[in-house]
Amino acid sequence: EHKDIATPLRTKQILEKYGLSAKKSLGQNFIVDTNILSKIVNAGEINKETTVIEVGPGIGALTEQLAKKAKNVIAFEIDDRLLPVLEDTLSPYDNIDIIHSDVLKVDMKAFEASHLADAKEVVLVANLPYYITTPIIMRFLESGLVLDRMVLMMQKEVASRISASPSTKAYGSLSVAVQYYMDAAVAFTVPKTVFVPQPNVESAIIRLSEKTEKNVQVNDEPLFFRLVRSAFVQRRKTLWNNLLVAFGKADDTKAKLEQGLEMASVDPKRRGETLTIEEFASLANAFSQLGL
Ligand code: SAM
Repeated sequence: EHKDIATPLRTKQILEKYGLSAKKSLGQNFIVDTNILSKIVNAGEINKETTVIEVGPGIGALTEQLAKKAKNVIAFEIDDRLLPVLEDTLSPYDNIDIIHSDVLKVDMKAFEASHLADAKEVVLVANLPYYITTPIIMRFLESGLVLDRMVLMMQKEVASRISASPSTKAYGSLSVAVQYYMDAAVAFTVPKTVFVPQPNVESAIIRLSEKTEKNVQVNDEPLFFRLVRSAFVQRRKTLWNNLLVAFGKADDTKAKLEQGLEMASVDPKRRGETLTIEEFASLANAFSQLGL
C-alpha cells in the first residue's frame, strides 16, 4: 500500500527528490489535502465506466485519486520537468496516460479519435492553472467534444461569474458564454490552505453539467456572441444605448434594431445584464433574420 501523494510531507519529499520548485508562471499550486480531492472526485461522479480528462496533473495528487475510481485518466501536462516525477509517483496505476502538451494547442478532434473512440462517459476534471482558466474552459466547450460533466477548480471570483444568474453583479458575457453550452453551479469553495504554495486568492469548484432545459437555438453564433458582448460593454447603460454603440446609428440600422427588439419582445430600456440567455438568443435570431 503506497502513501497518498497529496499530503504536505509527501509533496515536500517529492519536490525535494527532484529538486523542483513550483513555477508561478505555469499556475502551479499543488493540492496537499486528500479530503478536498475526495470531494472533487465525488462531484465528478466518477466510476469504472468513466474516462477522465485532466488538465495539469502536476505531481499527480488529483490524478491518483481519479485513477482509483475511473476506468482511465488522460492528463495533459505542459511542464516537461514533471514528466519523470509523474512516471514515478503514478507508477502503481496502469490506467493513466500522460500527454506532454499545452492543452490550448491540442487538436481536440484528433485527440477524440485517438483517445476517446470507445469511451462510454467522459468527464473533465482539473485543478486549473488560474492564468488560463477561461481559455481552457472555452476551448473545451467550443471544441465539440462531448463531455458529460466538468468539475473544475478555479479562482472563486471567476467561479461566481461563470455561474451567475441575470440581474446580479457577477452576471456578464462569461456567464452567458459558458451557460450557453452547459449548466453551471458552484459545488463548494476551497480555502488557500490546501495548496502548496498557497495562491493569493480563494478558490472554488465549479460543476458544469448537461443543460436540463432544452438547448437555446441560435442561428448565427458569431452574431449572438457579438450581441452578448455588446450588451455588457457599459453595464449601467440601457441595452438600446449599448446596441447603438455596437451596431451603429444609421437610420436603417436603428430601424432594424428597433424591429428586432420588438420581435423578441425585449424592452430597449432594459439593461443588458437583465437579459436571460434565451432572450439574448431570440434577439440575436431576430437581428439575423433582419440582416443585421
Ligand atoms: N493537478 C495538480 C494538483 O492539483 O495538485 C496541479 C494543479 S496546478 C494548479 C496546474 C497544473 O497545470 C500545473 O501542473 C501546470 O504545470 C499545468 N499547466 C499550466 N499550463 C498548462 C497548459 N497550458 N497545458 C497543460 N498544463 C498546464
